[in-house]
Amino acid sequence: LSPVPSDIEISRGQSPKAVDRLAKEIGLLADEIEIYGQTKAKVRLSLLERLKDQTDGKYVLVAGITPTPLGEGKSTVTIGLVQALTAHLNVNSFACLRQPSQGPTFGVKGGAAGGGYAQVIPMEEFNLHLTGDIHAITAANNLLAAAIDARILHESTQSDKALYNRLVPVVNGVREFSSIQLARLKRLGINKTDPGTLTADEINKFIRLDIDPSTITWQRVLDTNDRFLRKITIGQANTEKGFFRQAQFDIAVASEIMAILALTTSLADMKERLGKMVVANDKNGQPVTAEDLGVTGALAVLMKDAIKPTLMQTLEGTPVFVHAGPFANIAHGNSSVLADKIALKLVGEEGFVVTEAGFGADIGMEKFFNIKCRASGLVPSVVVLVATVRALKMHGGGPNVTAGAPLKKEYTEENLQLVADGCCNLQKQIQIAQLFGVPVVVALNVFKTDSHAEVDLVCEIAKQSGAFDAVPCNHWSAGGRGAVELAQAVRKAASQENHFKYLYNLELPIIEKIRIIAQKVYGAEDIELSPAAQSQISRYSKQGFGNLPICMAKTHLSLSHQSERKGVPTGFILPISDVRASIGAGFIYPLVGTMSTMPGLPTRPCFYDIDLDPDTEQVKGLF
Ligand code: ADP
Repeated sequence: LSPVPSDIEISRGQSPKAVDRLAKEIGLLADEIEIYGQTKAKVRLSLLERLKDQTDGKYVLVAGITPTPLGEGKSTVTIGLVQALTAHLNVNSFACLRQPSQGPTFGVKGGAAGGGYAQVIPMEEFNLHLTGDIHAITAANNLLAAAIDARILHESTQSDKALYNRLVPVVNGVREFSSIQLARLKRLGINKTDPGTLTADEINKFIRLDIDPSTITWQRVLDTNDRFLRKITIGQANTEKGFFRQAQFDIAVASEIMAILALTTSLADMKERLGKMVVANDKNGQPVTAEDLGVTGALAVLMKDAIKPTLMQTLEGTPVFVHAGPFANIAHGNSSVLADKIALKLVGEEGFVVTEAGFGADIGMEKFFNIKCRASGLVPSVVVLVATVRALKMHGGGPNVTAGAPLKKEYTEENLQLVADGCCNLQKQIQIAQLFGVPVVVALNVFKTDSHAEVDLVCEIAKQSGAFDAVPCNHWSAGGRGAVELAQAVRKAASQENHFKYLYNLELPIIEKIRIIAQKVYGAEDIELSPAAQSQISRYSKQGFGNLPICMAKTHLSLSHQSERKGVPTGFILPISDVRASIGAGFIYPLVGTMSTMPGLPTRPCFYDIDLDPDTEQVKGLF
């Protein structure tokens, strides 16, 4: 329809097929799905075993140029592309998307189900609770947070003997170590299994974690933009005997458990990663883990259903997995390895799995290759690089683009000079993808204000800059039909020889790995480490974590660390203010400037427009 109706109107205008029918169409057996309502189902991991001999399909990553704060359409391109492949070209395909946080859904950016005629439906299910994975993460995260403070309190107020009697109780006349405790004894070098034989020194070593409260890095989380929880004091009731300390809440999707969910490859692997999470140091500077706190098993229990991807569908009835949605700055910002692996089996050798990397290619794609592909062992076939005329005009010197404000005339009228000047950013992002040896297809996401000449100019420059192909896409206004040319270009690019390689060796020192990303990807002259960053790097190296990949926490609004510098900034030194680690997820994350892990609400948040019709139970105002 023209004009294109609102996202929720389009979503509601199409009745989704029953999810059990969809599951049958894509070859799932009845006992491989767990149905939630009529339009969502979790898919069991046993499928991977049944299909283990099936050859994988082609793996396509959708990334973008440096965006405006409005987003340039990576999700809509991802969905438009699979709609084109399956519903128009009859090629099996799957989209694997991130589950959005409720923070932006009710805050500024809105949901993430795509838009226009390229959407996942029902979009209110997608954007809200889905199948409860984020709630499970919140529960697991906060159980661990509670365990840390409770343990400090109990250790500080009880003698060794009293603690020992409680932690290793006599049950039916027998005192026995649990399996977690036996593993801890082994880690401590105490090779005893009979509780009766421990010396007083060994008991002291075994039962005291001696957590240094000033080193606790594990925070409480919730899935709401609640700025007043950015800095809080906990433990102020008399019952906590003066053990108050300053702490903070993060948004739930910033939890390391979310990053683990996105990177894990099996239940056993998830359990191991959960146990390895470092939450603090002890008073000797040694890491204290979730396993030391005895909580690994309980965390795995809370996460046992969240590990299964959720099956949904696009507007054109093609299959979608929605699974995991880690933060894209302090984590890697990609959906789950498991969803991709299952989808690659289901589409078969000739099929396509299309997934999306958050932020611009300099961040999302770099992390996709160096972190996610390393965890999965999967090899990508094609990068689709999404560009828009409006973002290119911004890079060419156009005025600031602000969410919620009307676009200035430079963006609504033809201006070939701004477009040409801004194509430097597109060219640089193409070169970044080429560092990894993967062919690039540029998808120009067309807006109704773009002129033919502007669209042609971008495609021409993209091809001259080394893209395998560059095509305009009209999926937002025309659905899959509007992305057929893109789908054909992607099929051709996927048949090219693949030269995929990682950017750095894990064995390099942490500083070298950071420097390679800063210079080769961002175009920095060099890096500059604060004293805090230097001391964290030497601590992690000494603790044996030096061989992990790097997950840069940098603004997505510029290739540099300064969001106002558009185009291709040069001559800058990238400042690393601090370095932290997510050991269970398996990466070190340097902070480039300060990163907020708890967004706030603006004066007029999205929730003003969200409403429920009590008669029809229909949700209004989501986008
Ligand atoms: P990203 O994934 O890159 O953040 P999205 O695909 O979520 O971007 O798109 C951002 C917003 O822009 C969404 O609200 C989407 O509906 C809208 N949008 C995307 N493409 C178009 C287009 N061609 N015309 C109009 N609106 C669009």
